[in-house]
Amino acid sequence: MSDAHFQFEIVIVGAGPAGIAAACAAAEFSEFSERVAVVDDTPWLGGQIWRGEQARPKQPQAQQWLDKFRKCGATLLDRTSVIAAPENGLLLAEHADGPRAIRWQKLILATGARELFLPFPGWTLPNVMGPGGLQALVKNGWPISGRRVVICGTGPLLLAVANGLRGYGAKIVSINEQASWGSLAGFGFGLLRHPGKLFQGAGIGAGIFGVPFRCGTWPVKAEGEDSVRSVTLTNGSKTWTEDCDVLACGFNLVPNVELPVAVGCDLQRGFVRVDFMQATTVANVFCAGEPTGIGGADCALTEGRIAGYAATGQSPMAEQLFGKRDRWHAFRDALAKTYALRAELKTLATNDTLLCRCEDVTLGRVRQFSGWREAKLLTRCGMGSCQGRVCGAAAKVVLGWGAESVRPPVLPARVGSLITTEIQR
Ligand SMILES: Cc1cc2nc3c(=O)[nH]c(=O)nc-3n(C[C@H](O)[C@H](O)[C@H](O)COP(=O)(O)OP(=O)(O)OC[C@H]3O[C@@H](n4cnc5c(N)ncnc54)[C@H](O)[C@@H]3O)c2cc1C
Repeated sequence: MSDAHFQFEIVIVGAGPAGIAAACAAAEFSEFSERVAVVDDTPWLGGQIWRGEQARPKQPQAQQWLDKFRKCGATLLDRTSVIAAPENGLLLAEHADGPRAIRWQKLILATGARELFLPFPGWTLPNVMGPGGLQALVKNGWPISGRRVVICGTGPLLLAVANGLRGYGAKIVSINEQASWGSLAGFGFGLLRHPGKLFQGAGIGAGIFGVPFRCGTWPVKAEGEDSVRSVTLTNGSKTWTEDCDVLACGFNLVPNVELPVAVGCDLQRGFVRVDFMQATTVANVFCAGEPTGIGGADCALTEGRIAGYAATGQSPMAEQLFGKRDRWHAFRDALAKTYALRAELKTLATNDTLLCRCEDVTLGRVRQFSGWREAKLLTRCGMGSCQGRVCGAAAKVVLGWGAESVRPPVLPARVGSLITTEIQR
């Protein structure tokens, strides 16, 4: 392993739609192109939504942006996880070849979001997974053809994933959305203001035609021995069981705010607080995409462009995009309202249900403490390989506890990298 040092004027963390758009905007001005770098922990460009687009091009919008990025002259540091921000202007990262010290003058955080999992009896059985995670596995060759899949949870991802899996030959048993029909009808009506999304929705609707779709329905328990075999669902008045080989269950997305918090950025209602130029509360640090609110790829692209222009001092270019961003923010607010989690989801887990699956800690054990920090210190919950990204987010919903601080590493890291982190302090 060898240490490596990099220095760029503008560093962007995250190569999803927000990060790509930020890099293209920043590098648009030739004086900047060779001084812009994008760092991402994955081996591909495109973040969650455009995963696999490099190998198997399908989406014209993705191709257009990936192409633009390749031509823009920015440097891509892929397979590089940013694990700490020990001082202003410095990020520490990990790559298979060794630790990386990355110096920046302007930083754009575009770290995206992850799925939210809520505990219920049986949620840790093999073949119970998040819809987005399942989709990623299938895109990478996990065999799904002929397997029975029940989909539940909340958010537009449920329908998109059902449509995608059907394309790979899965047998979708049912789709169960916890939001009510009333909320969904209001959201559908609001889509009239976004014809592109309406068109996309119609395509998905046609793809899943004939699959039972229920609203106001959520999981009670999953059962099986070596793997999930059935799921019990309820609509509050009726409870029934469906057989399945795979249960895809996720409760929308939570923002990846650990790195922004480590850099010192303030949060507002769980998201990174930014001003109209996407500037955070830390000087020279900007944020775009899902960490500022769960708004989808188009919202992320627009915010990313504004952040890229703002970081390079191109304010008039950024201002031209404010109207567009306002429209996507209205869509983002509608998403949050429509898919707000119902109170019943907080009581699905029993005291015996695992909350922290990395360290095998039950909800009952964690409940004996008054807050996340105390529970973590005395039970090791949140100290496993996910570093609280799964159980911490669940504890926030189920117990109302927030993580009071973020300690490095923000992603799992090797001891060698952590030693470098200490040396750099
Ligand atoms: C699992 C999953 C599947 C999804 N599938 C779909 C879909 O099929 N259709 C759809 O419309 N939307 C989907 N979404 C939502 C969609 O991803 C977002 O709306 C959109 O991609 C947001 O773009 P972004 O640039 O903000 O974030 P992202 O696309 O999430 O990009 C963020 C990038 O930052 C990287 N990153 C984060 N932290 C670090 C770090 N510390 N160091 C280095 N790199 C880091 C991540 O690996 C990622 O590549 C999915 C989301 C998830 C979580």
